[in-house]
Amino acid sequence: QMYQNLRRLINVVDELRDVGLQQYINLPRICVVGTQSSGKSSVLESIVGMDFLPRGEGICTRRPLELRLVHLSESEHKLEEAWALFEGTQKKYTHFEQVRGEIERLTDEVAGKNKGIVDEPIVLTVYATQCPDLTLIDLPGITRVPMKGSDQTDDIEKLTREMALRYVRDPRTIILAVMAANADLSTSDALQLARKVDPKGLRTIGVITKIDLMDRGTDATKMLLGEDVPLRLGYTGVKNRSQADIKGGKKVREALEEEKTFFQNHPTYRALPPHYLGSRSLVDKLTKVLFRHIRNFLPEIKREINNKARSVSMRLDELGEGVPVDVAERVQLMWTMITDYCEIFKNTIRGKFDRKLQ
Ligand code: GDP
Ligand code: MG
Repeated sequence: QMYQNLRRLINVVDELRDVGLQQYINLPRICVVGTQSSGKSSVLESIVGMDFLPRGEGICTRRPLELRLVHLSESEHKLEEAWALFEGTQKKYTHFEQVRGEIERLTDEVAGKNKGIVDEPIVLTVYATQCPDLTLIDLPGITRVPMKGSDQTDDIEKLTREMALRYVRDPRTIILAVMAANADLSTSDALQLARKVDPKGLRTIGVITKIDLMDRGTDATKMLLGEDVPLRLGYTGVKNRSQADIKGGKKVREALEEEKTFFQNHPTYRALPPHYLGSRSLVDKLTKVLFRHIRNFLPEIKREINNKARSVSMRLDELGEGVPVDVAERVQLMWTMITDYCEIFKNTIRGKFDRKLQ
């Protein structure tokens, strides 16, 4: 029931986005932030349950990707199990390998082929039976040093940090702060950024990746419980595919099963309450938080839309009557405009002429 309600709410928000309202009014959304290679794109793929994001060494996400996930019920999907659609186009992609290719092409088209980064989002809608109803934005990772031989300039850190900041600053954005378990939490870019714009931690969800890569003898329990850096909405630990898994052709779905087994059989993690662990728990949490968030903000958004509409209609009144429908009236109006114009023109000329004579 809650999922159905959420879907209705998200549709409202996405429709408002479609008519360009985001330009004037900030709408609820989820942004994924973190250091480059912390696992942002991997987390997104686990949420969607499919492989379709560009992957490789170095920085791959070079334009923000706005991902609108639409869950299909069993009755809605007839022939295809899943498809994707880029904004402003008609082509329905059913092979997600091609989606990856198209994201890469759209990235190169705007940001160049040489690793440049541009703040011009790609909007992709994914319809699938296995994905939840969420709208998420994947951002270029925070990058410290420019890649050798690339178009990236020395201000790459500033550029990536400010881009992320622009997205997460807005109080209606939920921040999915992604950090790797094998790095020090206190130096996490994601947490630093989140703390700057959300000091009380009201809209930041922590995601700890690479739990499988921690040093032997250490574990993520303290991080997960928020004993290192407290976060009101807490942390979720995940285990995504390694680079070797991806190279070996392991599917996201397989990896999700493995993740489940990994946490269930782990001597330390199996003792933790299940909501701390796994991509499935993360989706549940995101869904709940987003639902609450949209519901809380909707009255305010409605008020802002009404104010905007009022000021637009006042502006319209100022502009006066529109062009009449009747042809004779139109001709009349045109004549009046032309004679008025000639009058103004004549006066201007005369004015100049008079000034010359003086
Ligand atoms: P992004 O730059 O933040 O989008 O990071 P990616 O999602 O592209 O991941 C960077 C690299 O880390 C990739 O090679 C992933 O396969 C790997 N990776 C991500 N998460 C995990 C994880 O939980 N465990 C392991 N072993 N590798 C991971
Ligand atoms: Mg990425």
